[in-house]
Amino acid sequence: MKHIDEFRNKGLVKNLINKIEKISHYEVSIMEVCGGHTWAIQKFGIPSLLPETIKLMSGPGCPVCVTSKSFIDHAVAYSRLNNTIITTFGDLIKVPGSTSSLEKEKSKGADIRIVFSVLDALKIAENNPQKKIIFLGVGFETTAPGTAAGIINADKKNIDNFFILSSHKIMPPAMSALIDEGVKINGYIAPGHVSTITGSSIYQGIPQNYNVGCVISGFEPVDILQSIYMLLMQIYNEDFKVEIQYTRAVKPEGNVIAQQAINEVFTLADDWWRGFGIIPASGLILNSKYSRFDAATMISVEVEKTIEEKGCICGEILKGLKKPKDCKLFGTVCTSTNPVGACMVSHEGSCNAYFRFNS
Ligand code: SF4
Repeated sequence: MKHIDEFRNKGLVKNLINKIEKISHYEVSIMEVCGGHTWAIQKFGIPSLLPETIKLMSGPGCPVCVTSKSFIDHAVAYSRLNNTIITTFGDLIKVPGSTSSLEKEKSKGADIRIVFSVLDALKIAENNPQKKIIFLGVGFETTAPGTAAGIINADKKNIDNFFILSSHKIMPPAMSALIDEGVKINGYIAPGHVSTITGSSIYQGIPQNYNVGCVISGFEPVDILQSIYMLLMQIYNEDFKVEIQYTRAVKPEGNVIAQQAINEVFTLADDWWRGFGIIPASGLILNSKYSRFDAATMISVEVEKTIEEKGCICGEILKGLKKPKDCKLFGTVCTSTNPVGACMVSHEGSCNAYFRFNS
């Protein structure tokens, strides 16, 4: 199959649904841990196609959603400093901090620029040698290599006004943490984009330690339904393993060059995830060789005390314990144009996807 239409082919979709219905004989819970999958599952109405025995849950797969409010507060505090330019991907600008957001600070005159890659931020640094340029590094293994490449470039060019505020995270510790906390998960639809970088072996601990299967999935209806079918085969046969459904993009070994860039620049550290708190060794911080690019240690600033939103249940939604419609603010006080919590901001957030496709 080469063209996208083939992955949306009605006949193939019907065939997969029939196969799923045939083998499904007791209730199972399947979680996706990728914001792209959350969006696709809602867009294509996948839950409505499945038998009632299959419960789909969204997990902590939206990078903006799991990023702490104190990170936003930190970025807001930097944006108020003189001679400082904040560079960021678009989604982050709208995320509410404790009392402000980057969008609000920009409207008050802060120099905050949306970039499409860290290399754009590096260019801004080269063009503004008298200013400090801070890039907000957010995301999982998918975006971390880009940030690493920016740092390596800055080091090679000896650029000394470029800094990273890192909230990069890795996915497997959160997948383990969910099961450790007792969330009932029989199988994971494992992230497609993350796995193009990491390959499949990073998930081995999940079947080995927990008897929970993982299928790395693509993003089209045929991909997702085939992944669900593969997971059901694992679950009902009690043969738990890591499989790749998304073979057209994911190789078992992943992207070795991107992995080398991550390993060159970052080291693992405990990190805070919305809904979870601290997860050991789940975050990526700059290692000692590159610490001169670390905004958090090189540029001191007073950060306000974090205040969490009242009534927002993002944390429980990110653990699959609640659905967006369980939130009293969903669709009334909290909408995609007036987001209260991070899960409504990003198009990969559960609340945003539910709002967009189910309201
Ligand atoms: Fe938070 Fe809004 Fe989602 Fe409610 S609907 S959980 S307030 S983001």
